Amino acid sequence: MNFKNFDKYFLNLFLTLIILIFAVSCQNCTSTNADNKSGKNSYKKNDSIINSNDSTNTKQDTVSKIYLLGKIIPSKDTNFIAVDQKYTSKKGFYLRKETYNAFKKMFDAAQKDGVKLSIVSATRTFIEQKWIWDGKWTGKVLYYGKNIATEYPDPIERSKYVLKYSSMPGTSRHHWGTDMDLNSTELAYYKTENGKKIYKWLSENASRYGFCQPYTVKDSARISGYEEEKWHWSYFPLSSIYFEQYKERITYDDLKDFAGCETAKQVNIIKNYVLSVNKTCR
Ligand SMILES: [Zn+2]
Repeated sequence: MNFKNFDKYFLNLFLTLIILIFAVSCQNCTSTNADNKSGKNSYKKNDSIINSNDSTNTKQDTVSKIYLLGKIIPSKDTNFIAVDQKYTSKKGFYLRKETYNAFKKMFDAAQKDGVKLSIVSATRTFIEQKWIWDGKWTGKVLYYGKNIATEYPDPIERSKYVLKYSSMPGTSRHHWGTDMDLNSTELAYYKTENGKKIYKWLSENASRYGFCQPYTVKDSARISGYEEEKWHWSYFPLSSIYFEQYKERITYDDLKDFAGCETAKQVNIIKNYVLSVNKTCR
């Protein structure tokens, strides 16, 4: 090999190396992008690993205060999707796409075990919650057969009574598109054979699909807040993020424009209710 050939040989070797390095690095960014597009986000909580097929990540999941307060229109928000009739007995329900995808997997698994899940309430906006709350608080709608306005003339006592099972507008987890009520919101239903079977299945399996029960029996770990709700399930990969954002950003100045809103601070609604959830949902 003379000097000229020697020079050429190393030039070729150098170019080959550059091409190889470029090919390897390009393959890496392609696979990273592909992973991001398919949204292979893994969530680990309570020893359950949930693979989500959505494109969200923690950064994108930072939502506005307006969103946390339920002042949204799910039908016009591309993050939400209408729930198919297969999964509910009613029309017009919406959920966050991530919640819906996880629910569909849970629904199929339950069905294989002979359990039929049915969504009886999903995302509720501030306006929808206001309609529910105002009706009960003003006595226009009877609450467990009672006119609350006449039974509880004291505003704080009245709020506390309604708050056994109903949230003030702007404080409901149903605003977030992550929470749903399943099968029945009647206490008596969970004393029936079918109700017991459904609750047992959810208790044993829901966490595998990312769902937790925020309102469990009150005990030393959950001393205040709503009564136990065996029907209310939350998609914690998303709701735990919104829970933190709510804790950080929502104040009593944000809770207004509904009947008896002045009692929100008096009953300490944020600390005693919104943040008082079972530890598996935090
Ligand atoms: Zn609920």
